[in-house]
Formats: sequence, C-alpha cells, structure tokens
Amino acid sequence: MKSLISLCLLSFILHLSSCADWCYQTKGDCKGAENWKDINAECGGKRQSPINIVTKTTELDKRLTPFTLNGYQTVFDSTVKKNNYTVEVAINTTATISGGNLEDTYKPLQFHLHWGTNGVQGSEHTIDGEQYPMELHIVHIKQKYNTLQEAFTDPSGLAAFGFFLEESNSNNTNFDSLIDALGSMQNKSGSVSIRNISASQFVLPEVNLSSYYRYNGSLTIPNCGESVIWTVFEKPVPLSKTQLQFFSSLKLDDGTPMVGTFRPVQLRYGRTVYRSSSPAVLASVVLLFVSITTTWSLSHLY
Ligand SMILES: [Zn+2]
Repeated sequence: MKSLISLCLLSFILHLSSCADWCYQTKGDCKGAENWKDINAECGGKRQSPINIVTKTTELDKRLTPFTLNGYQTVFDSTVKKNNYTVEVAINTTATISGGNLEDTYKPLQFHLHWGTNGVQGSEHTIDGEQYPMELHIVHIKQKYNTLQEAFTDPSGLAAFGFFLEESNSNNTNFDSLIDALGSMQNKSGSVSIRNISASQFVLPEVNLSSYYRYNGSLTIPNCGESVIWTVFEKPVPLSKTQLQFFSSLKLDDGTPMVGTFRPVQLRYGRTVYRSSSPAVLASVVLLFVSITTTWSLSHLY
C-alpha cells in the first residue's frame, strides 16, 4: 500500500500519468471516487474536499482580507501536460501569495482544471447545490517547503485557490493559448510547450480577489492529503460555450471521452466555512439606504 501511495504521490508531484490505480469513474481495475479510500484511507477522512458551500451558514470573518499577490503577472514559458485525470500547467515563476488570513507565504506550483460533460456541471465545489461547468485550481505550497511530502506533514502546508468557470456569450481570449496547446494532444496524454503565459491571466481581471470562501480541506485526488487551506472565489471566470465544450472533447488514452473529471462533494463533518464579505447583506444595506433616502425625499416633496 505504501508503495502504491508513493507512486500516486510521485505521479502527482512529477505530473506523470503512470498512476493507473484511481480514476473518476470506476472502470476495469481502477477505483472510482467512491472507492478512493481503499487506495488511501485519508480519502475517507473528515476534512475532505470538495464540499457544497451553503452560503447562509457561512460565517463572516473580517480577518479574510484581500490577498497580496507578488509576481502573479510575471510572464513565463511552461509546459501543458495532459494525463488520464486532468490537464495542468506548471507555474515556473517566483510568484508568492500572502494575506487573506493565510498564516504564511505560499508559492504557486501549478494550475489544473476540472470539468463535466458537454460543457456543463463539472466544478468540484458547489454553491448552494449549484455546480458550475468547470473549476480551475491553483495549488500553492508554503514557501519554506520544497516537497509535497513536507507540506503533507503540516495541516496548512498547501493553499489552493478555486475559481469557477461559467458560460458566457463571448470567447475568453486569455484561454486561447491553453486550448491551442491542448488541441495537439486531444486524443492522447502528453505534454507541449506553452509560451508567454502568466499565473494571473486565466483568472484576472474577471475575479474580485477580495470576495471568497475559506475552509480547511484536502487534495481532491488521491492521496487526499488533509493539508489544504481552501479559498474558493465567489465570482466565476467567463468562458464561451465552445471553449467549455472543448474540454469535454478531450479523450483518455483508451479512446473514451475525458469527461466528469471532478470528485463529488464530500461531507463537511461540522467544519465551518467562512466568507470574506457579505455581498447579499451589503446589497441589502445599499437598498435600505436608497429606500430611506427615497422615502425622506418624497416626504419632503409632498
Ligand atoms: Zn483540482
């Protein structure tokens, strides 16, 4: 078992596609999401991700200030890798994130994507039961760590950013180079180079980085390590229907469609989900103010 875990972990770290023991939907010898705990007991733990975020039960936490991103806009060359689970891009910069009530400074390692079928219902986290078409994850590790093994010994060793992707009427040109790169390996695993990208181009400027949810969770693939501080941003990134559907057109190595690449939501087991701000409450306050002002104005008119 230990060697199996190590192999999976190594596969994750090195972005290899050799870990053939798990999959999203059970098929042949590979274990689907409901059986990942047989591969690693932590997948059956009580701090697992993703979760459904029930907005009315979230707690406002004023310590959840905006993030400080350093070097996130630095342009770099990298490699797009496609395996039997996901597509991911290594972030080859010295960028860092801090703030947002994170206890330390973290550096980004890679980003990857989760999607559904035919461009719908593919996010991992859900909001009040609503599943978005896709979700982009940026995985960060504490700056002082060099390996994931080190990070997994620390309950806050990793910090993940989750961004929802939603359908819009126009193409998001920030995704063009990624989709072009994937086009050359639509039917197989592999890797191709991608040039002149930045960590921020895929998620900014659309997303307001000050409005987000926070909870303690895990990796959403085996080994399901419970060392991840999750930040799920409220505002989605727009992608056209064609762009969303492109990801569902990718194929696994056995020729079957690469769809449903998300883990279903896990039980919360009493964990609190915090929110950085309260748009609904703020909107109510503004409306109340407008209402009072209008009433006052009318009362003085008549
Ligand atoms: Zn992910």
